[in-house]
Amino acid sequence: MSSRTQLPSLSEVWLQTLGWQPTPEQQHQFVELFQHILAANQQLNLTRITEPQDFWEKHLWDSVAGIGPWLPHEPPLPSGLQDLSSDLPFDSSQPLRVIDIGTGGGFPGLPIAIIKPTWQITLLDSTQKKLTFLAHVTAELGLENVVMCCDRAENLGQYSTYRELFDLALIRAVGPASVCAEYALPLLALKGYAVLYRGQWKTEEQKALTGAVSQLGGEVVAVMPVNMPRSQGVRHCIYLRKILPTAPQFPRRVGVPTRKPL
Ligand code: SAM
Repeated sequence: MSSRTQLPSLSEVWLQTLGWQPTPEQQHQFVELFQHILAANQQLNLTRITEPQDFWEKHLWDSVAGIGPWLPHEPPLPSGLQDLSSDLPFDSSQPLRVIDIGTGGGFPGLPIAIIKPTWQITLLDSTQKKLTFLAHVTAELGLENVVMCCDRAENLGQYSTYRELFDLALIRAVGPASVCAEYALPLLALKGYAVLYRGQWKTEEQKALTGAVSQLGGEVVAVMPVNMPRSQGVRHCIYLRKILPTAPQFPRRVGVPTRKPL
Protein backbone atom coordinates (compact mmCIF):
# COMPACT_ATOMS: atom_id res chain seq x y z
CA MET A 1 0.00 0.00 0.00
CA SER A 2 1.45 3.42 -0.87
CA SER A 3 1.68 6.09 1.87
CA ARG A 4 -0.84 8.16 -0.12
CA THR A 5 -3.52 5.59 0.66
CA GLN A 6 -2.46 4.68 4.21
CA LEU A 7 -4.94 6.01 6.70
CA PRO A 8 -3.51 6.74 10.17
CA SER A 9 -5.28 5.20 13.18
CA LEU A 10 -4.38 7.96 15.71
CA SER A 11 -6.01 6.06 18.58
CA GLU A 12 -4.54 8.36 21.22
CA VAL A 13 -5.94 11.40 19.44
CA TRP A 14 -9.42 9.90 19.38
CA LEU A 15 -9.08 9.19 23.10
CA GLN A 16 -7.67 12.59 24.06
CA THR A 17 -10.21 14.57 22.06
CA LEU A 18 -13.42 12.54 22.23
CA GLY A 19 -12.74 10.07 25.06
CA TRP A 20 -13.49 7.28 22.61
CA GLN A 21 -11.62 5.24 20.01
CA PRO A 22 -12.70 2.93 17.18
CA THR A 23 -12.43 -0.82 17.63
CA PRO A 24 -9.92 -2.59 15.32
CA GLU A 25 -12.85 -3.70 13.13
CA GLN A 26 -14.18 -0.13 12.87
CA GLN A 27 -10.66 1.14 12.06
CA HIS A 28 -10.48 -1.46 9.32
CA GLN A 29 -13.82 -0.23 7.93
CA PHE A 30 -12.55 3.39 8.03
CA VAL A 31 -9.54 2.29 5.93
CA GLU A 32 -11.79 0.48 3.46
CA LEU A 33 -14.08 3.51 3.21
CA PHE A 34 -11.10 5.75 2.46
CA GLN A 35 -9.83 3.42 -0.24
CA HIS A 36 -13.23 3.09 -1.92
CA ILE A 37 -13.59 6.87 -1.95
CA LEU A 38 -10.13 7.35 -3.44
CA ALA A 39 -10.87 4.77 -6.13
CA ALA A 40 -14.21 6.35 -7.12
CA ASN A 41 -13.26 9.99 -6.67
CA GLN A 42 -12.02 10.70 -10.19
CA GLN A 43 -15.31 9.74 -11.80
CA LEU A 44 -17.66 10.98 -9.11
CA ASN A 45 -15.94 14.03 -7.65
CA LEU A 46 -16.89 12.98 -4.13
CA THR A 47 -14.35 15.03 -2.17
CA ARG A 48 -11.30 17.25 -2.53
CA ILE A 49 -9.96 15.89 0.77
CA THR A 50 -7.86 12.91 -0.27
CA GLU A 51 -4.59 13.23 1.67
CA PRO A 52 -4.76 10.53 4.41
CA GLN A 53 -4.24 12.80 7.46
CA ASP A 54 -6.70 15.35 6.09
CA PHE A 55 -9.23 12.64 5.32
CA TRP A 56 -8.85 11.32 8.87
CA GLU A 57 -9.40 14.76 10.40
CA LYS A 58 -11.85 16.50 8.08
CA HIS A 59 -14.03 13.54 7.22
CA LEU A 60 -13.69 10.82 9.89
CA TRP A 61 -12.88 12.79 13.02
CA ASP A 62 -15.19 15.69 12.12
CA SER A 63 -18.12 13.34 11.39
CA VAL A 64 -17.70 11.55 14.71
CA ALA A 65 -17.12 14.75 16.71
CA GLY A 66 -20.67 15.89 15.88
CA ILE A 67 -22.07 13.04 17.93
CA GLY A 68 -19.27 13.43 20.50
CA PRO A 69 -21.67 14.31 23.34
CA TRP A 70 -23.40 10.95 22.79
CA LEU A 71 -20.35 8.72 22.51
CA PRO A 72 -19.92 6.21 25.33
CA HIS A 73 -16.91 7.82 26.99
CA GLU A 74 -15.57 7.21 30.43
CA PRO A 75 -15.51 10.24 32.76
CA PRO A 76 -13.80 12.65 33.01
CA LEU A 77 -14.70 14.19 29.64
CA PRO A 78 -11.75 15.32 27.49
CA SER A 79 -11.09 19.03 27.92
CA GLY A 80 -12.22 19.94 24.38
CA LEU A 81 -15.62 18.31 24.75
CA GLN A 82 -18.39 20.15 26.60
CA ASP A 83 -20.55 18.16 28.96
CA LEU A 84 -23.89 18.52 27.21
CA SER A 85 -25.53 15.58 28.98
CA SER A 86 -28.06 17.77 30.79
CA ASP A 87 -28.78 19.82 27.61
CA LEU A 88 -28.96 16.78 25.34
CA PRO A 89 -30.70 14.08 27.38
CA PHE A 90 -30.78 11.42 24.72
CA ASP A 91 -30.43 7.69 25.10
CA SER A 92 -28.01 7.05 22.26
CA SER A 93 -27.70 3.35 23.12
CA GLN A 94 -31.21 2.89 21.64
CA PRO A 95 -31.65 1.82 17.97
CA LEU A 96 -32.21 5.38 16.75
CA ARG A 97 -33.53 6.40 13.34
CA VAL A 98 -31.00 8.78 11.84
CA ILE A 99 -30.90 10.74 8.57
CA ASP A 100 -27.86 12.35 6.96
CA ILE A 101 -29.27 15.13 4.76
CA GLY A 102 -27.14 15.90 1.66
CA THR A 103 -24.68 13.11 2.43
CA GLY A 104 -22.56 13.57 -0.74
CA GLY A 105 -19.64 11.15 -0.34
CA GLY A 106 -21.24 9.74 2.83
CA PHE A 107 -20.35 12.33 5.49
CA PRO A 108 -21.10 12.42 8.31
CA GLY A 109 -23.46 9.43 7.87
CA LEU A 110 -21.09 6.61 6.91
CA PRO A 111 -18.47 6.97 9.68
CA ILE A 112 -21.37 7.16 12.14
CA ALA A 113 -22.99 4.04 10.65
CA ILE A 114 -19.65 2.27 11.16
CA ILE A 115 -19.33 3.20 14.83
CA LYS A 116 -23.05 2.95 15.70
CA PRO A 117 -24.26 -0.36 14.25
CA THR A 118 -27.53 -0.18 16.24
CA TRP A 119 -28.53 3.10 14.58
CA GLN A 120 -30.56 2.86 11.35
CA ILE A 121 -29.06 5.44 9.00
CA THR A 122 -30.74 6.92 5.93
CA LEU A 123 -28.32 8.62 3.54
CA LEU A 124 -30.24 11.29 1.63
CA ASP A 125 -28.94 13.05 -1.45
CA SER A 126 -30.48 14.49 -4.58
CA THR A 127 -27.75 12.94 -6.77
CA GLN A 128 -28.37 9.30 -7.66
CA LYS A 129 -24.84 8.52 -8.84
CA LYS A 130 -23.41 9.34 -5.40
CA LEU A 131 -25.98 7.09 -3.74
CA THR A 132 -25.23 4.25 -6.17
CA PHE A 133 -21.60 4.49 -5.10
CA LEU A 134 -22.56 4.65 -1.39
CA ALA A 135 -24.77 1.56 -1.78
CA HIS A 136 -21.80 -0.26 -3.27
CA VAL A 137 -19.51 0.85 -0.43
CA THR A 138 -21.94 -0.10 2.34
CA ALA A 139 -22.28 -3.58 0.80
CA GLU A 140 -18.49 -3.93 0.56
CA LEU A 141 -18.11 -2.83 4.19
CA GLY A 142 -20.84 -5.21 5.31
CA LEU A 143 -22.93 -2.40 6.83
CA GLU A 144 -26.51 -3.58 7.30
CA ASN A 145 -27.80 -0.45 9.02
CA VAL A 146 -27.74 1.94 6.05
CA VAL A 147 -30.35 2.73 3.39
CA MET A 148 -30.14 5.22 0.54
CA CYS A 149 -32.76 7.76 -0.41
CA CYS A 150 -32.56 9.85 -3.55
CA ASP A 151 -34.67 12.98 -3.30
CA ARG A 152 -34.62 16.60 -2.25
CA ALA A 153 -34.93 17.32 1.47
CA GLU A 154 -37.77 19.75 0.66
CA ASN A 155 -39.80 16.87 -0.82
CA LEU A 156 -38.94 14.30 1.81
CA GLY A 157 -40.14 16.56 4.61
CA GLN A 158 -43.59 16.70 3.01
CA TYR A 159 -43.99 12.92 2.53
CA SER A 160 -46.03 11.41 5.36
CA THR A 161 -43.77 8.34 5.40
CA TYR A 162 -40.72 10.44 6.28
CA ARG A 163 -42.11 13.48 8.07
CA GLU A 164 -41.48 13.27 11.84
CA LEU A 165 -39.82 9.85 11.39
CA PHE A 166 -36.28 10.47 12.64
CA ASP A 167 -34.72 10.75 16.09
CA LEU A 168 -31.61 12.44 14.79
CA ALA A 169 -30.84 14.48 11.67
CA LEU A 170 -27.24 15.26 10.65
CA ILE A 171 -26.41 17.91 8.07
CA ARG A 172 -23.01 19.14 6.94
CA ALA A 173 -22.04 21.55 4.16
CA VAL A 174 -25.47 21.74 2.55
CA GLY A 175 -26.32 25.45 2.94
CA PRO A 176 -26.87 28.30 5.38
CA ALA A 177 -27.83 27.20 8.90
CA SER A 178 -31.47 28.33 8.66
CA VAL A 179 -31.87 26.42 5.37
CA CYS A 180 -30.45 23.32 7.04
CA ALA A 181 -32.92 23.79 9.89
CA GLU A 182 -35.82 23.97 7.42
CA TYR A 183 -34.66 20.70 5.83
CA ALA A 184 -34.07 18.93 9.14
CA LEU A 185 -36.82 19.89 11.59
CA PRO A 186 -39.86 18.61 9.61
CA LEU A 187 -38.14 15.21 9.42
CA LEU A 188 -37.64 14.96 13.19
CA ALA A 189 -39.96 13.28 15.65
CA LEU A 190 -40.84 15.33 18.72
CA LYS A 191 -37.84 15.46 21.11
CA GLY A 192 -35.54 14.52 18.24
CA TYR A 193 -32.28 16.39 17.62
CA ALA A 194 -30.61 17.92 14.61
CA VAL A 195 -26.85 18.41 14.46
CA LEU A 196 -25.74 21.20 12.12
CA TYR A 197 -22.04 20.85 11.35
CA ARG A 198 -20.71 24.38 10.82
CA GLY A 199 -17.33 26.07 10.36
CA GLN A 200 -17.00 29.54 11.86
CA TRP A 201 -20.05 30.66 13.80
CA LYS A 202 -21.08 34.29 14.11
CA THR A 203 -23.55 36.05 16.39
CA GLU A 204 -25.64 37.16 13.37
CA GLU A 205 -25.93 33.55 12.22
CA GLN A 206 -27.04 32.52 15.69
CA LYS A 207 -29.72 35.24 15.67
CA ALA A 208 -31.02 34.25 12.23
CA LEU A 209 -31.00 30.57 13.15
CA THR A 210 -32.82 31.08 16.45
CA GLY A 211 -35.64 32.94 14.65
CA ALA A 212 -35.89 30.30 11.92
CA VAL A 213 -35.82 27.39 14.34
CA SER A 214 -38.64 28.79 16.45
CA GLN A 215 -40.83 29.10 13.32
CA LEU A 216 -40.10 25.42 12.62
CA GLY A 217 -41.08 24.09 16.06
CA GLY A 218 -37.57 23.77 17.41
CA GLU A 219 -35.09 25.36 19.76
CA VAL A 220 -31.35 25.85 19.70
CA VAL A 221 -30.12 23.75 22.60
CA ALA A 222 -26.35 24.08 22.42
CA VAL A 223 -23.51 25.42 20.31
CA MET A 224 -20.35 23.40 20.75
CA PRO A 225 -17.04 24.80 19.47
CA VAL A 226 -14.88 22.00 18.16
CA ASN A 227 -11.09 22.36 17.88
CA MET A 228 -9.73 20.18 15.15
CA PRO A 229 -6.91 18.07 16.58
CA ARG A 230 -4.45 18.31 13.72
CA SER A 231 -4.98 21.59 11.84
CA GLN A 232 -6.33 23.41 14.93
CA GLY A 233 -9.17 24.76 12.77
CA VAL A 234 -12.27 25.72 14.71
CA ARG A 235 -15.64 24.31 13.85
CA HIS A 236 -19.00 24.44 15.57
CA CYS A 237 -21.71 21.88 16.09
CA ILE A 238 -25.16 23.34 16.59
CA TYR A 239 -27.69 21.13 18.37
CA LEU A 240 -31.39 21.76 17.75
CA ARG A 241 -34.27 20.00 19.46
CA LYS A 242 -37.79 19.62 18.11
CA ILE A 243 -40.26 20.75 20.77
CA LEU A 244 -43.45 21.26 18.71
CA PRO A 245 -44.83 19.82 15.45
CA THR A 246 -43.54 21.77 12.45
CA ALA A 247 -46.23 23.81 10.66
CA PRO A 248 -47.42 22.06 7.46
CA GLN A 249 -46.08 24.75 5.12
CA PHE A 250 -42.50 23.72 6.01
CA PRO A 251 -40.33 22.70 4.29
CA ARG A 252 -41.32 25.02 1.47
CA ARG A 253 -41.12 23.98 -2.20
CA VAL A 254 -37.83 22.85 -3.76
CA GLY A 255 -35.41 25.77 -3.94
CA VAL A 256 -37.50 28.19 -1.86
CA PRO A 257 -35.63 27.65 1.45
CA THR A 258 -32.36 28.60 -0.31
CA ARG A 259 -33.81 31.54 -2.25
CA LYS A 260 -35.73 32.96 0.71
CA PRO A 261 -34.13 31.70 3.94
CA LEU A 262 -36.36 32.07 7.00
N1 SAM B 1 -22.46 16.27 3.57
C1 SAM B 1 -21.34 15.98 2.69
C2 SAM B 1 -20.05 16.47 3.27
O1 SAM B 1 -20.08 17.24 4.23
O2 SAM B 1 -18.98 16.07 2.78
C3 SAM B 1 -21.58 16.51 1.27
C4 SAM B 1 -21.64 18.00 1.16
S1 SAM B 1 -21.89 18.53 -0.50
C5 SAM B 1 -21.15 20.09 -0.47
C6 SAM B 1 -23.63 18.87 -0.52
C7 SAM B 1 -24.47 17.67 -0.91
O3 SAM B 1 -25.83 17.95 -0.58
C8 SAM B 1 -24.42 17.36 -2.38
O4 SAM B 1 -24.14 15.99 -2.56
C9 SAM B 1 -25.83 17.70 -2.89
O5 SAM B 1 -26.26 16.84 -3.92
C10 SAM B 1 -26.67 17.55 -1.64
N2 SAM B 1 -27.85 18.44 -1.57
C11 SAM B 1 -27.85 19.78 -1.69
N3 SAM B 1 -29.10 20.26 -1.52
C12 SAM B 1 -29.89 19.19 -1.28
C13 SAM B 1 -31.30 19.04 -1.02
N4 SAM B 1 -32.11 20.09 -0.98
N5 SAM B 1 -31.78 17.78 -0.82
C14 SAM B 1 -30.96 16.71 -0.89
N6 SAM B 1 -29.62 16.80 -1.11
C15 SAM B 1 -29.10 18.02 -1.32
